Amino acid sequence: MPTSLPPIPGETELDRLVARSRLLGADPTLVLFGGGNTSSKILETDHRGNERWVLRIKGTGSDLRTIEAKHFAGLWLEDLLPLRDREALSDEEMLAYLSRCLVEADAPRPSIETLLHAFLPALHVDHVHADAICALANAPDPVAAVREALGDDIAVAPYVRPGFGLAKIVAEFAGSRAVVLAHHGLVTWGDTHEESYGLTVELVAKAQDYLEAHGSDIFEVALGSGPAPEHFLAQLRGRLSRERRQVLAVDPSQRAVAGRPDVDTIAGARSTPDHMLRIGPRTAVVRTEHDIDDQVGAYEDAYRSYHAAEAEPGTPMQSPLPKVMLVPGVGGIAAGPDAGAARVRLELAAHTHAATAATLDSFGGSSWLTPAEVWEFEYWPLELYKLTLAPPPAELAGTVVIVTGAASGIGRDVAIDLARRGAHVAIADLNAEGLAETLAELPAGRGIAVDGDLTDRVVVDGLVSAAVEAWGGVDAVVFNAGIAATGTLVEVDEAEWRHSLEVNLTSHFTLTKRVWSILENQGIGASLVYISSKNAFAPGAGFGPYSVAKAGLVQLAKIAALEGGKHGIRANVVNPDAIFSGSKLWSDELRKERADAHGVAVDELEQFYAKRSLLGRAVTGPDVAEAVAFLVSDRSRTTTGCVLTVDGGVPAAFPR
Ligand code: ZN
Repeated sequence: MPTSLPPIPGETELDRLVARSRLLGADPTLVLFGGGNTSSKILETDHRGNERWVLRIKGTGSDLRTIEAKHFAGLWLEDLLPLRDREALSDEEMLAYLSRCLVEADAPRPSIETLLHAFLPALHVDHVHADAICALANAPDPVAAVREALGDDIAVAPYVRPGFGLAKIVAEFAGSRAVVLAHHGLVTWGDTHEESYGLTVELVAKAQDYLEAHGSDIFEVALGSGPAPEHFLAQLRGRLSRERRQVLAVDPSQRAVAGRPDVDTIAGARSTPDHMLRIGPRTAVVRTEHDIDDQVGAYEDAYRSYHAAEAEPGTPMQSPLPKVMLVPGVGGIAAGPDAGAARVRLELAAHTHAATAATLDSFGGSSWLTPAEVWEFEYWPLELYKLTLAPPPAELAGTVVIVTGAASGIGRDVAIDLARRGAHVAIADLNAEGLAETLAELPAGRGIAVDGDLTDRVVVDGLVSAAVEAWGGVDAVVFNAGIAATGTLVEVDEAEWRHSLEVNLTSHFTLTKRVWSILENQGIGASLVYISSKNAFAPGAGFGPYSVAKAGLVQLAKIAALEGGKHGIRANVVNPDAIFSGSKLWSDELRKERADAHGVAVDELEQFYAKRSLLGRAVTGPDVAEAVAFLVSDRSRTTTGCVLTVDGGVPAAFPR
C-alpha cells in the first residue's frame, strides 16, 4: 500500500481536478475506458460578480485518462442541493433539471452520477469501477466481504441503478470513510484532492491484497499476443459478420480463465456496469471442437428470450450476437466494428473475467443482479446516450483488405483511400521503406505491413496469416504488385521474361490460392480486385513481358470469378493506363524507352499518354482508388468477372 502520494499539481482547482482525474484514468487497476467519474466543488465568480459554489463534474462519455478541463460540466450547487428533499425523480426529470443548472450552456452533458457527487458534502468526490472492488461487491455477501477486506468504516450501499435514488442512499453514508456500491464500484471523497484520490488507491490496494491472500492469483491482466487457429477465427468471424462485417481481437492471456472448469460460470452473469453496457449480459463460451454455428446460435436464442422476457413490447433489440467470447485453448476473443472497439471490449472483459474468478476463488461463490436488473442497465437510455456520441460507422467499417504493392503509386493511394473509408488494411511490398511510409498514413490499429518478395510463397503465407491474426479474417484483396519488364521478343532475356510472369501473374495466383480457404470458411462473400493494365487489351511493341503477364491476370480474374461465384467470392479487374505520379513502375529507364517507342521527348511522355485518350486527361492514383473502392464495397455486389477501365478512354483497350 502506498504510504505517501505526491501532491496533485495544478494552478487552479479545476486544473487539479483534471490532474487527479488523469491519475485515476491512467491506472487500469482503478479505471477502464472512462468507466468512473470525478468532481470538485469550487467557489467561482458568477456573471454578476458574486462568489458561488459550482460543482465541476465529468461529462458523460469522456475518458478520465485523457480528460481536459472542457470535458467537465459546471452546475450551480445551490440549485442542486434542494433536490435532496424530493421523494422521487425520474431520469427524464433529472436530466431536464440538470440542464437548467449549467454554468455554461454549451457544456457536455453532466455525468449520470452528478447528484451522487452533489449530495456528498466533501469538496472532492471520486467514483471508480475498480476490478478488485467489483470482486468484493459481487461476493455472495458483499457487506461481509467489504467489512472483512476493507474495514468497518467502509459502508456498503445496496444495488440500485445510478441516478437520483442511488444519490440519496449514498448521501446517507456521508459519515463513513467511503462507500462500496454493491455490484457496481467505489465512491471516495475528501476535502483535498490528495485525500480523495489517496483513499481510492488505498482501498483498491487493500482489496487486491485481500483477494490475493484468499487464493486469487490471476489478477494480472495484460493483453498478450500469439496465434489462434486461423480457420477457427475465419469461421467465427464469418458467423458474427452475416449482417454487418466485424473484426475480431484475440487475447491469448485469457487462456488461463478460458481453461478453468468453471468457465461457464465466469462467462455468466458476473458483469460490471461497463461490461453490461459495452458487452451485454454475458460472455459467450465457444468451444473450438464443436459447431460454431450452433454455439453462436444458442447464444442468440438466449439473448432473444432474455429480450422478450424483459423488454416492453416494441423495444428494438440490440444485436443478439455475442460481443466477447471465451474459447478454451485460445483465450478471449472480442468482435467489433473496428479494431479499436474490439480491443476495448476485449480489455474490459479481461478485467471482468479476472475479477469474477477472484470472487469465486476468494469467496467460493458470488451474487449478482437479476436478468431484469441487467436488462434495465443494458437498455438504460442515459447510458445508451454515451454510445450515440460515437460517429456512425464508415462504409467499409469492419472490412479487412489486403493490398499488395502498397509502398508507392497506385497501391499506396488505394490503401490510404480504403482506410479512409473505414477498412482495416494489410499492406505488402518488397520496398520496406516505402511500405513504412504508407503504414504511417493509416489510422492506428487499422494498418499492418508485411515486407518481402511476393513471389516467395512464405511471404504470401505470412501476409495472409498476419491479416487473420490481426483482425480475424479477410474480405478483399487488391492484387497490385507489379514490375515493368520491357524488351522486344528477340531481345528480351529469358530470365527476365520468367521474372515478369512470376511477379505480375504467378504471385497473384499464389495469393489467390492462399486466401481462398479463408474466404470460403468465412462464408460471407469476398471481393478480389486485380489491377491489370490497358496493355492487357492494347499491348505495345517492345513491352511483351509485361503485357503478356497482364493479359494473363485478366484471365486469372475471370477463372476466380467462375470458381468463386458459388461462395459469393467476386473477382474483377481494373485496367488503368499510364499513371506517373508517385509511381515506382515508371523508372527513368522505362520513361526513356516508351518515349522513344512513341517518338516523343521524355518530358512530353505524360502529356502524350493523356492526349491519346478519348477524354484527353491524365489518369491518377486516386482515380484507380475510386474504382477499387467500388469493387471492394457491396455497392458492386452484383458485379463479377468485369473489367473496369480507368484509362481516360482508349478505344483499342475497350474490354471485350
Ligand atoms: Zn458507476
